[in-house]
Amino acid sequence: MDKYYVGIDLGGTNIKIGVVKDGAILISDSISAESDHSMRERLPVIRETIDRLLQKKQIDTDRLGGIGLSFPSVVDDKNRRILSRYVKFSDADEIDLNQWAIDIWGVPLALENDARAALVAEWQYGAGQGFDNIVQITLGTGFGSAVLLEGKLFRGAHHVGGNLGGHVMINFQGDPCNCGAYGCMETEASGWVLHNKWKQDPLYRDSLLAREDNITYRTVFQYQEDALSKKILAHSLQAWSANVYNLVHHFDPEVVIVGGGIMKSGDLIIHHLQDFVDQYCWQPRGSVKILAATHSEFAGMLGMAYLASR
Ligand SMILES: [Zn+2]
Repeated sequence: MDKYYVGIDLGGTNIKIGVVKDGAILISDSISAESDHSMRERLPVIRETIDRLLQKKQIDTDRLGGIGLSFPSVVDDKNRRILSRYVKFSDADEIDLNQWAIDIWGVPLALENDARAALVAEWQYGAGQGFDNIVQITLGTGFGSAVLLEGKLFRGAHHVGGNLGGHVMINFQGDPCNCGAYGCMETEASGWVLHNKWKQDPLYRDSLLAREDNITYRTVFQYQEDALSKKILAHSLQAWSANVYNLVHHFDPEVVIVGGGIMKSGDLIIHHLQDFVDQYCWQPRGSVKILAATHSEFAGMLGMAYLASR
């Protein structure tokens, strides 16, 4: 009998839950994460949502094959435990989620880092189909990354393998980072640094960006003809390119998939990264393709449903 899988994408703002079969989301819902509360308080609401979705689709528990959950932190996929204390859901590392799923539905729970879950979705159902060596980056408030090598997720010795693309040092004389180091990818070009990094710039006073409360990539792209926007964009494209160059040299992928909120203006970014890689990377010209992610919103759910089915 064909099984159904539940994919849960547990984020800092929303928890997305979907019932998936053969890579298709049959039904889904998004509930508020309320992540400043404990995970213990949220689990009953997640359970109710899963039961409601299954009921709506008239799927009995015995046709449920497994549950997959992605989490934005360090995860031990083998022992199915969340390892690090994330700023949100501060009790997450104390909870045995696999036991939770077994007790309620009688099925195991697959656990994985959110960036890896998104990569799996692109690999199986999106831009990465047909490739077995993939680097995926996510441009947004931070800078996420994940790596698939020879058809296997790269996890490393301490479960952070491929995930720390935002904290690759690209400027050893750069600004302090929230990780404690300095000159990281994120301090050069990510959403959280933009305003503080550029409000001191001499161009700021007369810039259209000064009319907004905060400098964000949304406003930078909105006012693309503005002199400061041009300067920020040029700097950001160079920073992202430097990082992609490093990732390509480290992992030798067939494709680099780019996702995240900034990709609403994606063509410009994709073309720039492709030109940079073609010009400078030590690969035959054109052999590494830069592609836009295709599953931005539902990637976590799809990827986790796939991992739960393995
Ligand atoms: Zn850092």
